[in-house]
Amino acid sequence: MIGSLFGRGMGLLAWLGGIGLAAGPADGAAAGPFVRPPYAGAYEPQGVDERGLWMDLDEFERDLGQSPGVVRDPGLNAFVRQVLCDTVGADRCGALRCYIVADSRFNAFMAPNGMTVIYTGLLARLHSQAELAGVLGHEFAHFERRHSLAGALRQRSAGNWSAWISLLGVLTAVRTGAVRQELQIGLIAFTRGQEGEADALAARLVEGSRFRLAMAAVWRRAIEEDDALRREKGLRRVRHDITSLADDHPADGQRMAMFAAEELRVGSRGLDGGAEYAAATEPELPLLFAALVRGRDFAVADYVLRSRGEALGWSGALLTLRGDLFRLRGHPRDLVTAEELFGQAIAAGRAPPEAWRGLGLVQLRRGNAAGKAALASYLTLAPSAADAPLIRNLLDSGP
Ligand SMILES: [Zn+2]
Repeated sequence: MIGSLFGRGMGLLAWLGGIGLAAGPADGAAAGPFVRPPYAGAYEPQGVDERGLWMDLDEFERDLGQSPGVVRDPGLNAFVRQVLCDTVGADRCGALRCYIVADSRFNAFMAPNGMTVIYTGLLARLHSQAELAGVLGHEFAHFERRHSLAGALRQRSAGNWSAWISLLGVLTAVRTGAVRQELQIGLIAFTRGQEGEADALAARLVEGSRFRLAMAAVWRRAIEEDDALRREKGLRRVRHDITSLADDHPADGQRMAMFAAEELRVGSRGLDGGAEYAAATEPELPLLFAALVRGRDFAVADYVLRSRGEALGWSGALLTLRGDLFRLRGHPRDLVTAEELFGQAIAAGRAPPEAWRGLGLVQLRRGNAAGKAALASYLTLAPSAADAPLIRNLLDSGP
């Protein structure tokens, strides 16, 4: 997991055993001095405990494959997989299967059997292929070093076997047909040392790939997002550069500093891929941001939306999402802001139909009859939208 735990130790990697450090690219695609060691094939579970874990994971994965909470967009799935394969290498990538899951949190993980889960909240917060490569490289490092396997087997020996993957919410959702999805992997507890090892290996993987190392900015934004949340809740602002002895959690600032130093060492070599990232995620923006926009943390959602807009540009879809965020909070001043945002979305061109819906609803709430025309435009643009009957009712019932 990337969002919760931290390793202070950033020592040398055991991963390579020295053999991979020879200079020169492994193949035409690898530009850096780092060479991936030869791939020995997917890890085979050893012994009864591990084989039992694999069976449970495989069963869970079959259910996850049917879950309504999984994002199906073939273009977005292919894009994420390609970044993963370009980062870890095609051979290692062959052992991994990706699932994009609707969840507003900033997280991703790889289970020991190769099941890779990427939250929509993660994709909403990243701005480039290079950043995605860094995050997936970190998760792959846990996988390759079998950190999560050690955690799972510790849990099992503690008699708390099934709790390790408390993915039960997802299974329940599948079996009851409920759309709501809870995916809790909170029981995977990596140690600080493991987090440090994963960060260090991620840096080397990205360095050896076609992407630029660009993780310091991800952690800077994580800090800014946390500060925004604390301001909104009236909580004390925390220092992000220190870790207390009792705290399992690292300071995000320490991770940021580690990556900043690595980025200085590596230089600006490699592809950023911001435009590619914007293009691949744009068609699914409503899905990537849905859980954030409808969630309870206005400041977090607003921070994430604004940081994407500033980095990748304000598309009509992104402006519409921010308009919906203000419309849903609904303070009188928010409605003014929302109306402005929907207007900007429509003016920007290629706005989604929801821009007209939002504009109409806000105008009607503010007592402006022009809202009816906007809602009529919405129905023309999206006649079979799920809420079209509701909007028609609204138009028919008013004066
Ligand atoms: Zn981690």
